[in-house]
Amino acid sequence: MSHSVTLIPGDGIGPEVAAAARRAVDATGVSIQWEPVELNAEVISQTGQSLPQHVLDSLERTRVGLKGPVTTPIGGGFASVNVALRKKLDLFANVRPVHSLPGIASRFSDVKIDMVIFRENTEDLYSGLEHEIVKDVVTSLKVITRTASERIARYAFSYARKNGRKRVAAIHKANIMKLADGLFLRCCREIAAQFPQIQYKELIVDNASMQLVMHPEMFDILLLPNLYGDIVSDLAAGLVGGLGIVPGANMGETHAVFEAVHGSAPDIAGQGKANPTALMLSAAMMLTHLGETEAANKLETAIQSVYREGKYLTGDVGGAASTQEFADAVIKAIKN
Ligand code: ATP
Repeated sequence: MSHSVTLIPGDGIGPEVAAAARRAVDATGVSIQWEPVELNAEVISQTGQSLPQHVLDSLERTRVGLKGPVTTPIGGGFASVNVALRKKLDLFANVRPVHSLPGIASRFSDVKIDMVIFRENTEDLYSGLEHEIVKDVVTSLKVITRTASERIARYAFSYARKNGRKRVAAIHKANIMKLADGLFLRCCREIAAQFPQIQYKELIVDNASMQLVMHPEMFDILLLPNLYGDIVSDLAAGLVGGLGIVPGANMGETHAVFEAVHGSAPDIAGQGKANPTALMLSAAMMLTHLGETEAANKLETAIQSVYREGKYLTGDVGGAASTQEFADAVIKAIKN
């Protein structure tokens, strides 16, 4: 069976890692009709739309996307396209598995880290509702709703049950944001009560950050509102060797877009240095979503074997290989 997938290379290192991930997916032998669409700062300024219609039309047809990062200007300019896409398609669950890979010399190489982050993806401080009330006084609205909190909690607990995971930790700051984070926590507790076989606990986000660094092996599933989810994802990525290796999925009721945790990394864009592992592993999640379990396993196993061998790793994880050399090594391992 052939699948149609929208391929969004994005910008920065996006086109480099997307090309590598596409080649690796094709090497598994799975039949994918790729629909490449351009989404970057240039297209946005040309079309005057942060989400150009051709991108949405393609995703409407395929319902599945593999996406590189799109740069978000800091402190001004257009709103984040990545966030806009998640909201537009109601991709409410951001799922980010964080686990050690063999052979990476991270500070925690002697610890087995295996956690999955469930980040609410549509609201919180990402509502983008900011106002300058009077000069030099700005408010930013944090929006938390029962609907969004319940569905991310249900998604995380259902995943735990389906995948034999034992523990869910909800992460919050309800001691300070008593109403907003209080509602998030209430929803998590109510859903937790429906899954008595899964241990449930709550951690305040500052303590959770310390515990993650001191005892990362204790964490199983983390359940967070949007902003804490963003920050804790990068922290967790740092535990296993950095942003170059952590994949992600944005899941909705009808659409799914797979993208790495990392951003467009302008500091290394166009230099052939980017690590494509994160997007390749995101592509493996996509293959699983498409029901192509065998191809997903092939891709993951090949990536692990390249890490185990350690000869063709990129600079961010201590090697000297280029994006393309790493991709070639993965493809060779798939074909062996
Ligand atoms: P955003 O907020 O858009 O998610 P960010 O602020 O998290 O972006 P990134 O663009 O992800 O920032 O980059 C953070 C650092 O990690 C940079 O130094 C970048 O070079 C490095 N980095 C990110 N992705 C990769 C990758 N795939 N390979 C190698 N280094 C990477």
